[in-house]
Amino acid sequence: MQAPVLYIVVPCYNEEAVLPETGRRLHAALKGLTEQGRVSPRSRITFVDDGSKDGTWPAILALTKGNPSIEGIKLAHNVGHQRALWAGMNRVRERCDCLITIDADLQDDVEAIGRFVERYNEGCQVVYGVRSSRKTDTSFKRRSAHLYYGLMKRLGVELEFDHADYRLLGREALDALAAFPERNLFLRGMVPLLGFKQGRVYYERGERFAGESKYPLKKMLMFAMEGITSFSVKPIRCILALGALFLVLGLAMAVWAVISRYLGRTVAGWASIMVSLWVIGGAQLMALGLIGEYVGKVYTEVKRRPRYIIEEYTAKDEEQADGTQE
Ligand code: UDP
Ligand code: MG
Repeated sequence: MQAPVLYIVVPCYNEEAVLPETGRRLHAALKGLTEQGRVSPRSRITFVDDGSKDGTWPAILALTKGNPSIEGIKLAHNVGHQRALWAGMNRVRERCDCLITIDADLQDDVEAIGRFVERYNEGCQVVYGVRSSRKTDTSFKRRSAHLYYGLMKRLGVELEFDHADYRLLGREALDALAAFPERNLFLRGMVPLLGFKQGRVYYERGERFAGESKYPLKKMLMFAMEGITSFSVKPIRCILALGALFLVLGLAMAVWAVISRYLGRTVAGWASIMVSLWVIGGAQLMALGLIGEYVGKVYTEVKRRPRYIIEEYTAKDEEQADGTQE
């Protein structure tokens, strides 16, 4: 069997502090695999600069200099982690047999790459990198993550436990994924929907090598919400159920009020009015907000704006950077 052409796609947002080291380690890993004949010499490392404001792009260019196995894609604007991944995957999809996505900050174990390729050779089109423990996380992140997985499961969303975006996809899986038209991307939820033979690679996730997390709490919460509203309509159904419950309660209250009226016990109830006003007002606002969340999604989907725009691509072969819009 011929060794597969492997592409390693690395999204980078303001990562100048880690890039030289990331480049070095990924290059060493790829070189090792190439020398052992486990991947084709046509394999590449593709850094995607997600509209960084620091020296990330010059750092990527420096890595590509004199090193044909490293290439860079510069996005015209910051589009976020998921879309940056999508941009890289879609751009190089047709050149590879399989592709691994990995974060730039060296938290994911580079040494595990060989094991991903083994799974691929065993016929897996999808290989999840699964964290063997969450020792390096704060207890808050660990607990909230597990709570979130539990919630998603109850909402009917299939997610791989303790897997982030360190994964391998084969060409068939990549082509299938490219057919997903959505603009609101949540790859962790989309990939399990692909099917195919799926495998796992366990690895220890380390600390960020340098720089700061690009996922502050606010971004993390937005991402969590994105996952729920992109994959489940159950929250809308919950609102319906909640509305029905309130209606029944309201009717009971009305009956009670009428009876009280005829029994002559009609003391102006400030407390009860205030309570119902606030409870129902709150419930309504919450419901409206949640419905707005879905309406907003429909809005962004129907606009069908490009998921990313490429400004520059360093790959020097036959084709030009063409600003692919998908
Ligand atoms: N990232 C990106 N665009 C963004 C934010 C993050 O491409 O808008 C990249 C970032 O450079 C890194 C990966 O996504 O390679 C994961 O981000 P980070 O390590 O900061 O997240 P954490 O590990 O803290 O959850
Ligand atoms: Mg990280």
